[in-house]
Parts: sequence; C-alpha cells; structure tokens
Amino acid sequence: ERLVGSAADGEEQAVEAALRPKDLDEFIGQQKVREQLDLVLRAARARGATADHVLLSGAPGLGKTTLSMIIAAEMGAPIRITSGPAIQHAGDLAAILSSLQEGEVLFLDEIHRMSRPAEEMLYMAMEDFRVDVIVGKGPGATAIPLELPPFTLVGATTRAGLLPPPLRDRFGFTAHMEFYEPAELERVVHRSAHLLDVGIEAEGAAEIAGRSRGTPRIANRLLRRVRDYAQVKADGRITREIASAALAVYEVDARGLDRLDRAVLEALLKLFGGGPVGVSTLAVAVGEERETVEEVAEPFLVREGLLARTPRGRVATPAAWTHLGLTPPRPASA
Ligand code: ATP
Repeated sequence: ERLVGSAADGEEQAVEAALRPKDLDEFIGQQKVREQLDLVLRAARARGATADHVLLSGAPGLGKTTLSMIIAAEMGAPIRITSGPAIQHAGDLAAILSSLQEGEVLFLDEIHRMSRPAEEMLYMAMEDFRVDVIVGKGPGATAIPLELPPFTLVGATTRAGLLPPPLRDRFGFTAHMEFYEPAELERVVHRSAHLLDVGIEAEGAAEIAGRSRGTPRIANRLLRRVRDYAQVKADGRITREIASAALAVYEVDARGLDRLDRAVLEALLKLFGGGPVGVSTLAVAVGEERETVEEVAEPFLVREGLLARTPRGRVATPAAWTHLGLTPPRPASA
C-alpha cells in the first residue's frame, strides 16, 4: 500500500474511527457543504421529519463516511453502513431495507457499483418507501409489495456523473466534496495530533498538511508515521524539521509526490525531454504496468498541474521542471 494512497484498508479504518469528527461543528472545511447540510438537517428536525436523501460525491478519504455518520448523529438516528459491491442481488437490498428502523440512515458507499436490479429496487424505495419483492420465477412470479419505514439514504460515489440520472434525481440534496486547502488540512492535523496526544508545532503541522494531497485521510496517515519518527529519533514532539526528515524517509516529497510519482515525472523529463510520449512507453521506462501509471500516478500529477494528457501523449508542464529542479531544453530555433 502506498503511504499517499487515498483508500483505507480494514486496519486503517479502525484507527480512523477514533479520529472522526462527531458533529458538523467539528467537521473541518467543506464550508458550503456544511452550511447547506446544516439547513437541510435543521429543517427536517423542525418538521419532525426524516431528512431527505443525500448524495455525496468526491475522491476517497475526503470524509464521506464521516459526514454520513454526522448526519445520523445530528438527526439522532441510528446508521447502517453498506456498499454497492456488497449488494449484488435485489434480495440483498430488500433484506437491508426491510430491517431499517424509522428514520434510520442507510449509508451506501460506492453506490455506482450496485447491480442493476438492486438499483431499480432502490428507485422505488427512495421515492415511495416501498419495494416489490418478487417471489417465484418465470410466468408464475408475483410481486409482493412491502411497505418500508421512512429512512434517509446517504449515497457516496467518487463521481456523481457515474450514476444513472434516474438514481441521481431521487436525491433531495447533492453535495460535491472538494479536495481540502492546506490551511484546512493543518487544522485536521492539529486536531488529530491532539486526539492522539502528540505534541506538534504549527510548522510541523504545515509540513504534513502540504504533503497530504488535499486529503484528510492522507494527512492523518502521514501524521502517524511522523509521530513514529519523532518518538524514535527525537523527544516525540513534531517540529518542522522532524516532519520533513520523517517524510523524506518515507519518500513523500514537499508536494506530496511519492517515489512512483517522481519516477514517472523524472522519466518524462530526463528520458523524453518533457514529452510528448505515449503512456505505454513511459510505463516501460519506469518498469510499471501502463494501468499503474495511468490510474495511480497520473491523476495526482495532472491535478497538480505537473503533467498534461494530450492527444499526442504525455507532456510535462513548466512546473514539473521546476519541481524536480531541472532546466527544460531550449526549443530548437526555427
Ligand atoms: P472512502 O470513500 O474511502 O470511504 P471517505 O470519503 O468516506 O473515504 P472518511 O473515511 O470519512 O473518508 O475519512 C477518512 C479520515 O479522514 C477519517 O479518519 C476522518 O476522521 C478524517 N476526516 C475526513 N474529513 C474530515 C474533516 N472534514 N475533518 C476532520 N477529519 C476528517
């Protein structure tokens, strides 16, 4: 697993649970989303109603699960957590829906990866709080309608565009979560350090925040690695020097690039003069699969404005040369 990867494994999720903000006030950043959600939830509470269905879109690790738990907490409702890939048959979904309590929040992560029949069942459940359970097969099959208690569906997806419009339209409120600003990540780092009982200086937090790729999950993960370093190599307190030395050991550079990102960039600059070069050629040059370069390294390099994908191939931007401390070749004079 990459230190700067945005997904979490089971073990990490357990550690993360301790660091999750518990209410909207504690949730850092995402100002607009917070403001809008606050209104949606307050209004529902005032009406004594179940909150509208909410769709959260955004990259992994930006706080979608956290926000769904906050929605439940703010509504004083229990929460059930599942994911699209876990629901392969409509029957799986029917079983979950029919066991919900009134007002319960159902968090459905990766909602775009649900099977088609389950998705269609969800349309009706969201709109009418009703599902048709099909009993039997073939011509003799009958649909038995089943009333459901009102519930709030919180769907999460990496891209709202991946959802079929009929599903997207059934959410009363859609929020797009952006990557976090460095100042917001600094606050995340300070808050987590406090919860983990680790001493940290402002510059130490800034150093970690700047390398966290706009993602709270990565900020928390880097903080834990820097804490280890501070304990072993110093007195446990995180200063700018300690954070920077620790992250050098883990090969996460000042902008959050790791070894793979830098290898791709270096090959592009040093071997291909900054491009354009085909992604397959670039992949061979760094000894990786094409998919790894395309899906693991490139999205962040593109987002950072270090690399551009053009019809003629990959091209380095001037910022890439600056970042690696190299001078671009002079354009050949005409
Ligand atoms: P995935 O899509 O991979 O499930 P996610 O978007 O649901 O990711 P979370 O699991 O909610 O992300 O958040 C990851 C970690 O980042 C958690 O430990 C959480 O505490 C922390 N975190 C996320 N957003 C915030 C925030 N706004 N303020 C403070 N901590 C946050």
